[in-house]
Amino acid sequence: METVFAQSLPLSRYILEFTYLIASILFVFGLKSLSHPDTARKGMFLAEAGMAAAIVGTLFHQDIHFYGWIIFGLITGSMVGAAFAIWVPMTAMPQRTALSHAFGAVAAALVGISEFIIHGSELSAFTRGALGFEVMLGTLTTTGSLIAAGKLQGTIRGTPVQFKGQQLLNLLIFFGMFSCFIYSVIYRDAAAAFYGMVALGLLFGIMLVIPIGSADMPVVMSLLNSYAGLSSAATGFVLGNNVLIIAGTLDGFSGFILSVLMCKAMNRSITNVLFGGFGAVHHDAAAAGEQGTMREIKLDDAAIQLRYANKVIFVPGYGLATAQAQHAVRELANVLEEHGVTVKYAIHPVAGRMPGHMNVLLAEANVPYGELYEMEQINPEFPTTDVAVVVGANDVVNPDARDNPNSPIAGMPIIEVDRAKSVIVLKRGQGRGFSGLENPLFFKPVTNMLYGDAKSTLTSLTQAVQSA
Ligand code: NAP
Repeated sequence: METVFAQSLPLSRYILEFTYLIASILFVFGLKSLSHPDTARKGMFLAEAGMAAAIVGTLFHQDIHFYGWIIFGLITGSMVGAAFAIWVPMTAMPQRTALSHAFGAVAAALVGISEFIIHGSELSAFTRGALGFEVMLGTLTTTGSLIAAGKLQGTIRGTPVQFKGQQLLNLLIFFGMFSCFIYSVIYRDAAAAFYGMVALGLLFGIMLVIPIGSADMPVVMSLLNSYAGLSSAATGFVLGNNVLIIAGTLDGFSGFILSVLMCKAMNRSITNVLFGGFGAVHHDAAAAGEQGTMREIKLDDAAIQLRYANKVIFVPGYGLATAQAQHAVRELANVLEEHGVTVKYAIHPVAGRMPGHMNVLLAEANVPYGELYEMEQINPEFPTTDVAVVVGANDVVNPDARDNPNSPIAGMPIIEVDRAKSVIVLKRGQGRGFSGLENPLFFKPVTNMLYGDAKSTLTSLTQAVQSA
């Protein structure tokens, strides 16, 4: 029996399956470690090692007769990846991630199309189903991710593109695409239906993302990530590749769970995200907004307020990231703590431009993890907080989300700084947040505006507190 088995499988096949097993284990442990900031870095290394093992294992595949194209792919892919890692700033990470999803999805779709061209007529109905699923998700994720990247980069208008009958049109495109899929599963040589599905998939990806406003893009991104993962899993079924099935499923379902959690954090409906058309800006509501005057505070007065406070909560946002002010905020916090002030940080799940953005930045500045509080934990503490310092955040502290049912961001949970005894908002000027909405917080009697770049102003504030 052993001899028969050994004869039927060459050594290269054992090496390949063994490395795939190792890669799958590394992916599972990598994902587990990514679930906590303390172990996230280790998780990244484990996942990278898993990917390296999967690539090395694949090189042992017995059907590879010519390594030239693979080496070409490895070199160009590594060059593009390295260029991205070196030159793309942290603040542009979401659009970079969207591009990565587009690359992954187009790869999955092309593998599916080439399998159809080469083996289409020999495939079983099950494999044709997996192939159709892969191509459908791959094509719609490709165009959807490209539109998302364009919106996030600002090359495409970020506001939702909506028109009458859009939902119905989306539904028709979806049913058209799905009917082509079913037809190509039932009938062996249904090339027209297959290519029809490719075209409708590409169109559906565009239609799915254009009606969504930039402010809701994080959820879309994590959903597209999930689609790209599921498409890779389907590729695994088509090619009989276990590591693709495992990694794709992990990616697909973790992305889906993240989408659901983000929808909850932004009070959005997952059905609307799935079928497009949420996050629409009601322009009347957007234009409306509390008017009045913003009160400016001088640096020395802000320093005195902070120096003699019992409790201060910092609320970081995108402006902190773009100014790279994480070390400056930590230094100010250190000085305040030396003066006996209790310091905490309030972290909103979508502050900044990617999930976990603030956690990553503050961890880089060695802010103790115990001082970071999630929104639900910290909100009840504001009424007993002397000063809430908003550093380059805007949308995530916009009280309209809570108080104005007509606001485009109505229902999105916010960090309730306006309930603190006093609020200092540190930003450069009158710039709006990512959603483009006015923020009534800036006009409230409790709020004082401290104008300036986050990094230099925090540094000056630290010096002023020391000499206060
Ligand atoms: P935000 O609403 O984008 O506001 C950032 C504020 O920072 C601006 O009002 C700007 O005002 C100020 N700012 C910019 N540069 C600054 C600098 N150098 N120094 C000081 N202030 C500066 O930020 P947020 O409150 O963090 O909200 C995040 C938004 O991004 C949400 O709408 C969220 O949905 C969206 N988003 C999040 C993700 C994610 O996954 N986290 C991804 C994509 C989009 P001035 O111009 O006046 O300085």
